[in-house]
Amino acid sequence: MEKKQFQAESKRLLDLMINSIYTHREIFLRELISNASDAIDKIYYKALTDENLTFNKDDYYIKVSYDKENRILKISDTGIGMTKEELEENLGVIAKSGSFTFKKENELKDGFDIIGQFGVGFYSAFMVADKVTVITKALGSDEAFKWEATGADGYIIEPCEKEAVGTDIILKIKENTEDEKFDEYLEEYRLRAIIKKYSDFIRYPIKMDVTKRKLKEGTENEYEEYVEETIVNSMVPIWRKNKNELKKEDYENFYAEKHYGFDKPAKYIHISVDGAVRYNAILFIPEKMPYDFYTKEYEKGLELYSNGVLIMNKCADLLPDYFSFVKGMVDSEDLSLNISREMLQHNRQLKVIAKNIKNKIKNELKNMLKNEREKYEQFYKTFGRQLKYGVYSDFGANKEVLQDLLMFYSSKEKKMVTLEEYISRMPEEQKYIYYAAGETNERIEKLPQTELVAEKGYEILYFTDDIDEFAVKMLMNYKGKEFKSVSSGDLGIEEEDNENASNKEYEDSKEVFEYMKNVLKGKVKDVVVSKRLKNHPVCLSNDGEFTIEMEKVLNAMPN
Ligand code: ADP
Ligand code: MG
Repeated sequence: MEKKQFQAESKRLLDLMINSIYTHREIFLRELISNASDAIDKIYYKALTDENLTFNKDDYYIKVSYDKENRILKISDTGIGMTKEELEENLGVIAKSGSFTFKKENELKDGFDIIGQFGVGFYSAFMVADKVTVITKALGSDEAFKWEATGADGYIIEPCEKEAVGTDIILKIKENTEDEKFDEYLEEYRLRAIIKKYSDFIRYPIKMDVTKRKLKEGTENEYEEYVEETIVNSMVPIWRKNKNELKKEDYENFYAEKHYGFDKPAKYIHISVDGAVRYNAILFIPEKMPYDFYTKEYEKGLELYSNGVLIMNKCADLLPDYFSFVKGMVDSEDLSLNISREMLQHNRQLKVIAKNIKNKIKNELKNMLKNEREKYEQFYKTFGRQLKYGVYSDFGANKEVLQDLLMFYSSKEKKMVTLEEYISRMPEEQKYIYYAAGETNERIEKLPQTELVAEKGYEILYFTDDIDEFAVKMLMNYKGKEFKSVSSGDLGIEEEDNENASNKEYEDSKEVFEYMKNVLKGKVKDVVVSKRLKNHPVCLSNDGEFTIEMEKVLNAMPN
């Protein structure tokens, strides 16, 4: 029997493939299952146009089986199979369909732009197997063929026996070495987990012989194991289902199944977009803060699927930092993937989706604020800091998205209020949105600086979070109203500017003032008469960019 050589380029690519393209070895199973699913799809599409062909859904499935002793892992499908010629073309030339040649011709440019199908997934099997055998019978053919290769040094094709149309991919799993372990690809539990992770939403059933336990007959607490062929994927992804068919529990189950959190989601958002870029997404706003949220380990991001197949666990580009608490997934048919399908080739589509998602989250939060105030306040208590941080970062670029979602404690209402609510209550002559910063609401309440503003009947927002004042400085104003700290020199309240009265009072007690200035030399810029005090003898005020509270924060920062 003649051993055929892979084409020269193929050899190089196969080497590359086995050694470096994929970062996660386990994806070989995803690739082989995807191929099996494609093969079934092909029959399905044929049946749509060929009246001699009927597609009975029950006849089509993928089976994953293993034989630990002989180190065999087998992926079988009842798909369209391959003729001898197709075997030769599809598996003998890596990156078939002209894509590899194309890449060579365009070596200097970004060669992969137009490629949807790379024709390399199959070879990922060599990451875990030292021999791959393909036994296949094409639809409408009486002959079956075997293709076999042990790596980059060539392959054989020969006739063989196979009863039914379809393909078996048989992997001889590598032996463990010192540094590399392969046994896991022969473990039922591990295989199921990989299938669940990457291929859960393959449209056809993926079957496995699953070990189960049942009560031994005639006993009350003795169990026996038995093996039963079981479908291990869920097939129809929840995000492809009609929203009307789904209940809250379905989303909550999905949330738990995906390990997005141990809590129940406070909100879920189910998006189906059929526009320029088509995608489905299910997003969750958690109720509780993830336990590792403020640690370095926490990674923001959404799961990214391409047509039901998991591509990325945490796609960070899909979420702005200020929404990093959002969990969930996105599935799109319109992504151009790179060769390993672990990354995206370019992110134009991704950018469109990300922008869209950002707006959906914003609107959902706005609705929550409007219609479920208590729930929103709870949310804000947990994640509000994140939103304020968002306002502060990027030099206020996120102002439009976030400003209406902010809340602060109000001196008047004695509860959290929005900026919109604040300005809607402002008396006509009030020029500024006043705020006071401090450690707690109780402490702020006692600040002498608040007295004049409060006496004027103006509402004061209490800033107890480090970030508050910095965020507001970035906002600059809300709907044209500037923010003003109650401790700033110029409060914009008229009586204060009554200079003559101040001067007189100063002259009357000149000695005291001079004495204080002297004592506090280097610590304060000036000691002046204040009109804002009612019950307190003195207070600190400032006339620079930074308030005293901000300076405290800045001084506490490591430099
Ligand atoms: P891709 O799936 O990107 O085309 P692969 O390397 O995964 O590349 O597969 C190469 C080709 O081999 C496929 O396009 C298909 O034509 C053929 N093939 C692989 N697996 C099967 C299968 N189980 N049944 C039928 N054809 C298959
Ligand atoms: Mg493939």
